[in-house]
Amino acid sequence: MTRRYDLHSHSLASDGSLSPSELVRMAASNGVDVLALTDHDDTGGIAQASEAAQQVGITLIPGIEISVSWNRQTVHIVGLRIDPTSSPLQQGLARLREWRNWRAEEMGRRLAKHGIHGAYEAAAKMAQGRIISRTHFARFLADNGHARSVRDVFKSFLKPNKPGYVAGEWASLEEALGWIHGAGGQAVIAHPARYAMTATRRRKLVGEFVELGGEGLEVVSGSHSRGDNFSMAQVARHFGLKASAGSDFHGPENPWVMLGKLEPLPEGCVPIWADW
Ligand code: AMP
Ligand code: MN
Ligand code: MN
Ligand code: MN
Repeated sequence: MTRRYDLHSHSLASDGSLSPSELVRMAASNGVDVLALTDHDDTGGIAQASEAAQQVGITLIPGIEISVSWNRQTVHIVGLRIDPTSSPLQQGLARLREWRNWRAEEMGRRLAKHGIHGAYEAAAKMAQGRIISRTHFARFLADNGHARSVRDVFKSFLKPNKPGYVAGEWASLEEALGWIHGAGGQAVIAHPARYAMTATRRRKLVGEFVELGGEGLEVVSGSHSRGDNFSMAQVARHFGLKASAGSDFHGPENPWVMLGKLEPLPEGCVPIWADW
């Protein structure tokens, strides 16, 4: 029988809304056999997720989603089958979280100049000592009527050239791949069709990623259209990359992304899990 894979998901350890064990139980009840927990810049949820996975009899892949600055754009690199105890990885992630904390304060200052007060404090409170994400700011702004939805908050406040946006100073592509490979993992470009870049620029990104030893492209993503999946399958084939598949589930409040409910990999793809 073919196994069902979902290799991209978030918990309360970053900007997801379920605890790691709740996430794992939901994955199991949705028929997932192999789940990767890939929180942003933090591996703090993996221990709890692994324990829950053992209890419900599914496989938990330790993962990470690293924030990367590439040519003044933010891109996300997923690491799969990482050893979360790797010290270069943990040192690198600690540096990103430190910058993230500064960014959160800076976002608060910029929003305050724009007449919106208390955003940093509210976001920090929501994050409960874990990473503070733009998602936390978005929830505060939406709850306080500054926009109709979290999506609209991003459009009006949290994207490049908007008042609450601070340009990323994340890891370089080379650093991210070095941390993932140093931790024994495989590197995958997350949701490649979602970046605001031309196809030419995307191919440049993929080309550099391949040169640095990257293994995979997230061909099937919960944030892709079916057409995106097919065009990313072509890119993967062109560059000889393996194909990954992940929902990028953040919580049941986003009903358009379901944990474990993914389109199959288009024909001709080599699954990243082929030799697991
Ligand atoms: P950060 O890493 O803190 O900059 O936050 C990025 C996160 O914000 C992503 O991982 C998504 O979860 C979320 N996000 C980004 N863009 C949007 C959007 N347009 N609508 C809703 N959520 C978004
Ligand atoms: Mn997120
Ligand atoms: Mn992402
Ligand atoms: Mn993600």
